[in-house]
Amino acid sequence: MPLDAYAVCVMDALNTCTCTLLAIFYGLTILAWRLLRRYLFNRSSGIPEIENIGKTRFPEQRLDGTALICGGSIAGLLAARICSEFFEHVIIVEPEEWLTSEDGMRRFAWEQEHKRTRVMQYQSLHGSQALLYAGLRKLFPDLAEQCRYSGIAIYPADRKMNFAGTLIPAPVESYHGHLPETLVSSRAGLETLLRRLVLGRGNYRNIVQIAGTVIGLSPHSDDPSRIGRVKIRRTDSQIEELDANLVIDCTGVTRAGVKWLSQAGYGSTDVNIDGKLDLKDAKISFDQKLQYSSLICDVTPDTLKKLPIPNDQTTETMFFGFWEDDPNNGRRFFVMTKVDGDRIVIFVGQSSDDPVKYESLNAMRSLIQDLKTHKNPIPGWVIETIDIIEASQPEVHSSQLRIPPTAYIRYHQTVNLPSNFVALGDSVSSVDPLYGQGCTKALLGAVALHKVLSAKTQVDTKELPADFSEQFFKEHSKKTDNFWQLTHLLDYGIPSTTPLPGEDLKVGRLLRWYLRRVQILATKDAQAGRAYWDGVMGFGTSVDIFHPFIVLKTLFNTLIGGE
Ligand SMILES: Cc1cc2nc3c(=O)[nH]c(=O)nc-3n(C[C@H](O)[C@H](O)[C@H](O)COP(=O)(O)OP(=O)(O)OC[C@H]3O[C@@H](n4cnc5c(N)ncnc54)[C@H](O)[C@@H]3O)c2cc1C
Repeated sequence: MPLDAYAVCVMDALNTCTCTLLAIFYGLTILAWRLLRRYLFNRSSGIPEIENIGKTRFPEQRLDGTALICGGSIAGLLAARICSEFFEHVIIVEPEEWLTSEDGMRRFAWEQEHKRTRVMQYQSLHGSQALLYAGLRKLFPDLAEQCRYSGIAIYPADRKMNFAGTLIPAPVESYHGHLPETLVSSRAGLETLLRRLVLGRGNYRNIVQIAGTVIGLSPHSDDPSRIGRVKIRRTDSQIEELDANLVIDCTGVTRAGVKWLSQAGYGSTDVNIDGKLDLKDAKISFDQKLQYSSLICDVTPDTLKKLPIPNDQTTETMFFGFWEDDPNNGRRFFVMTKVDGDRIVIFVGQSSDDPVKYESLNAMRSLIQDLKTHKNPIPGWVIETIDIIEASQPEVHSSQLRIPPTAYIRYHQTVNLPSNFVALGDSVSSVDPLYGQGCTKALLGAVALHKVLSAKTQVDTKELPADFSEQFFKEHSKKTDNFWQLTHLLDYGIPSTTPLPGEDLKVGRLLRWYLRRVQILATKDAQAGRAYWDGVMGFGTSVDIFHPFIVLKTLFNTLIGGE
């Protein structure tokens, strides 16, 4: 064979070989990503389990005795709904007595005479992820009807997300024209609705709520590995002790369970166990120094009609959100949204070492004029809306909060917990409220509770098994640890954040850079847009933005300087 022809043959063979190797590499990468995603989806998303959470069980399948739930807010109400299928009796203990009155379950939350004294966010901006709505619909089949009854709108969850002013289109096509829905309500609206659904309609007759504060617990006299009784201070200061087969801490950021357990001698051992923690070491916390300014404006129907709402929105679902792409300004986040009732909430969240307050519409207007956008200026209708609201001289309810540091009690690693103790909601972990995930996290805690109760309670068993608490916290961690990790990752990008002891703000820097680049890509790429939307609405997994195509497109877009 002539030398030239030989060289051509070798080149052809090499090309074929390279192409085959690339094709195999490509196929294996996609396959590995798909397998990993499926694994994480089944393990952590809660979506497969949500299908089952509303299923009713026969009363004879229920365990004898009482599930005692400490705290009657979002997590407590969801836990009660789950336990009503598994226990003969469910008791919620909640200090705020008015919550069981008509006012606590009022049809229209904005007409409530009382305000919550132990839930600081009762008068703050509230957003619900689409996953929360999906879960609540399973628990309460007539949810949509009940929302309408309470003036709470439901709509496809298109929040007109944007990257510093550039729209990230909602993935309507990718969802075949049916974007998952969510509900639009104030915090008071959501909580009051849930309370009416759980307590107010007589649908779950084995649930009662009593007024009191849980102040301690004591081991069972026959078997100290589980709790026997719970000590309650009633509103008339009388102390009462109640038997409990399961104790659920839903006391929110009070995290009272930690104190009760320590006082009763749980949460510590004399021997060191690898990978396990004493309860006193289980808490980690860092501070993003977040300041929260919410103005709830009561407007008239006439004023609502005058608002220059864009054509692709309705009055009921009016929303504008803008996240500044500048950590040095405290990553300011502005929102203007209609909520239940004739009310518009105008909000700013901002991290800062010093107190920051936006207490008037004028202060909000000045802030908007100061926000830095990338390409498109803040749309004119936003300022115009504030002008119209201000001119109508509405009653404005101002809530100015300094959010406490976020914290995580790592119960899933804690030694010597009583076998019949669990915790969910903010009593386990709180995350940055700006991401709107807190109530979804409580829902996923309830999903974990349902899963472990279903697996661990048989028809012929009358007690919880010895590993119940351990199994619950394992499942709970699978479902909710991601929320904490995300807050940890993103909030280290703000210079004013005080990190966890032993860490500095460089932790996660590369990942933060990548996330920002994916957001930029999402403004023009449908696949990245879908991954981003799923993440924001609670439907994603932690590897969605690492799909091999998204990684390649993100890197390419960065190389060509795409903004
Ligand atoms: C400012 C702010 C804004 C937020 N915005 C959003 C948002 O937009 N979207 C979202 O999903 N999440 C948001 N969150 C988070 C969300 O509100 C919480 O995750 C959610 O309320 C947790 O519910 P929970 O029942 O665990 O705790 P909580 O709602 O805090 O309730 C705790 C309950 O325990 C009771 N309690 C306390 N001590 C005792 C005791 N010793 N005995 C008995 N009962 C007791 C209290 O009275 C209260 O009813 C926000 C949080 C904050 C702070």
